[in-house]
Amino acid sequence: MADKRECPSCAMEIDADSDVCPICGYDLPRQRTSVKWAALLMLLLAILYLVLM
Ligand SMILES: [Zn+2]
Repeated sequence: MADKRECPSCAMEIDADSDVCPICGYDLPRQRTSVKWAALLMLLLAILYLVLM
């Protein structure tokens, strides 16, 4: 379950669920979060489109 990934700043193996690198404090953008935001934006645009029709 605990996925590991490499920090782009200090190249250390860190927990994939971490928002911030515990070693150097680098702010890690979470892929799952960005995908969720993209889906939310698409939904918002769809609603806006329907409202304007
Ligand atoms: Zn780091």
